[in-house]
Amino acid sequence: MSASAAPVPSEFNNENLEPMFSAEQIQTRIAELGAEIARDYAGRNPLLLGVLKGAFIFLSDLMRAIDMRVGVEFMAISSYGESTRSSGEVKIVKDLDVPIEGRDILIVEDIVDTGLTLSYLMANLHSRGASSVKLAALLNKQERRLREVPIDYLGFTIPDAFVVGYGLDFAERYRNLPYIAIIKDPTRD
Ligand code: 5GP
Repeated sequence: MSASAAPVPSEFNNENLEPMFSAEQIQTRIAELGAEIARDYAGRNPLLLGVLKGAFIFLSDLMRAIDMRVGVEFMAISSYGESTRSSGEVKIVKDLDVPIEGRDILIVEDIVDTGLTLSYLMANLHSRGASSVKLAALLNKQERRLREVPIDYLGFTIPDAFVVGYGLDFAERYRNLPYIAIIKDPTRD
């Protein structure tokens, strides 16, 4: 690097981010959830179903905290555009590649907001003959709920704020933050 090169601005220490949960807090909670899931599913072979893209980091840490035999699959469902508002529209963008009849499904989701995405997905998985469908969600914005969704394994309840990091994006940015933060000013770069 030449002496005159401008320093690369840190994405992780961006001033527009207000930290909410540290990487350590997230890992501590995930270890607890993983132990609880392993106890509850003892003797079974649950299929962890990650909802892309937001849940991919949570899923990868959570499954390593579940000390038992598990399978993993992914689906992508869209209910949000590149804005912070829910459109209320839900569609399957990437479907499962395997039958789930008779399987114990544990959906792994980043955040439950209005509940529209999850209530649709849970009904859809039941209709395919899953023997059980449960939900692990890292975050819950209870205040914004439009459809009731039972969260069996919850990381944290948060207030009504738009959060990013640890897989969650703002217009595809900030998924790589190791922690969870609120964006102070969404109009700023
Ligand atoms: P719901 O159908 O519950 O309203 O929306 C769930 C989806 O909306 C989440 O999986 C996530 O993709 C997105 N979402 C909801 N709230 C937030 C938020 O605060 N930050 C981010 N990045 N995405 C959110």
